[in-house]
Amino acid sequence: MLDLLVHNATLPDGRTHMSVAVQNGRIVEVTAGLQAPAHETLDAQGQLLSPPFIDAHFHMDATLSYGLPRVNASGTLLEGIALWGELKPLLTQEALVERAMAYCDWAVAKGLLAIRSHVDVCDPRLLAVDVLLEVKRRVAPYIDMQLVAFPQDGVLRGTTGPQEHMDTLKRALDRGVDVVGGIPHFERTMADGALSVKLLCELAAERGLRVDMHCDESDDPHSRHVETLAFETQRLGLQGRVTGSHLTSMHSMDNYYVSKLIPLMAEADLQIVSNPLINITLQGRHDSYPKRRGMTRVPELLAAGVNVAFGQDCAMDPWYSLGSGDMLEVAHMGLHVAQMTSQAAMRQCFDAVTVNPARVLGLQGYGLAPGCHADFVLLQASDPMEALRLRATRLRVYRRGKLLAQTPAATSQLHLAGRPASTACRAESIPHF
Ligand SMILES: [Zn+2]
Repeated sequence: MLDLLVHNATLPDGRTHMSVAVQNGRIVEVTAGLQAPAHETLDAQGQLLSPPFIDAHFHMDATLSYGLPRVNASGTLLEGIALWGELKPLLTQEALVERAMAYCDWAVAKGLLAIRSHVDVCDPRLLAVDVLLEVKRRVAPYIDMQLVAFPQDGVLRGTTGPQEHMDTLKRALDRGVDVVGGIPHFERTMADGALSVKLLCELAAERGLRVDMHCDESDDPHSRHVETLAFETQRLGLQGRVTGSHLTSMHSMDNYYVSKLIPLMAEADLQIVSNPLINITLQGRHDSYPKRRGMTRVPELLAAGVNVAFGQDCAMDPWYSLGSGDMLEVAHMGLHVAQMTSQAAMRQCFDAVTVNPARVLGLQGYGLAPGCHADFVLLQASDPMEALRLRATRLRVYRRGKLLAQTPAATSQLHLAGRPASTACRAESIPHF
């Protein structure tokens, strides 16, 4: 007998009336109209069943600290970094754990079941590293968390010197941090930035680890670190295992140069994470008008066959005062900023918070196919487009075939003479003539 049988589901690829059969935490069959005995059956009523949302770029150590010790007045990246520097000495293990755990509750409610979080490794005590390793252990039953050793102050620029910074970063990896990070555009010079990319990629190659760098997160059209990142990826044979996060300077780069750069990125199978909510908020702050959007060239990268994911990056922290772990909100913003409004492009935006980040993280067993983990979200929507339009309610969130969270359908009761008694703003309620 099956453990769970979901029937009458619509899948993100457009198949309708689909049944998904679950046994021992795995999907064992996906087919139309399956009838089989099961301990639990769920009628999806034609709504969208999606694999869970994935966030390929987050900062779990800073999350939910909004207003501590003060609010970012200018709204810039640089004031955010300075503010984080003021907050760091005040952090306690308990506060960090509790804030991260609270965010993970939000994530589960939103069907977000895998998160790659950067963790600041500039503090020689590695307080945040120990905290996030503990949080990773605690949430492992319901969230796959991957940690990136992120030298926020610059691995070469930081005040205690390059050797000590590199040693601290290595100690973080020794303790179990999964991925090597970096921040080349924050190093003192372009040359130091390039050197940091080289050293950190070599470290990852030595240890057989993945790389994920904050890269070219500026409006500087001459920032060239992604070129170095693609070069080092290829030189060290790390294709498919290296991620460039943000790449906002690509927005402002010369078009001729970009026509050379994108094929180099594709050749290195560089993984890209764009963070639409944060990029549209932080970039262009030094502009008057016209004001640049500052998000990287998502449609052009996708057209060149480069894998692009959208990340949340920040939620209620020194850089961003909003955010709730809602990856549909993230994709919704990405769709607008990149003007990805065709039906095909909107589907790509949905992929950018589901299948594309699964590839960035290298997740095994992800998807709605026989053999995959029985992890999925039932959305109050008919298809990915409607899910994006409504930032649809996550009716039910499952992991390994077990229910983790449920939310009542968002339906408004109407008290209008001669009109329907309720509406959920669904496409199905549009009159057809
Ligand atoms: Zn970031």
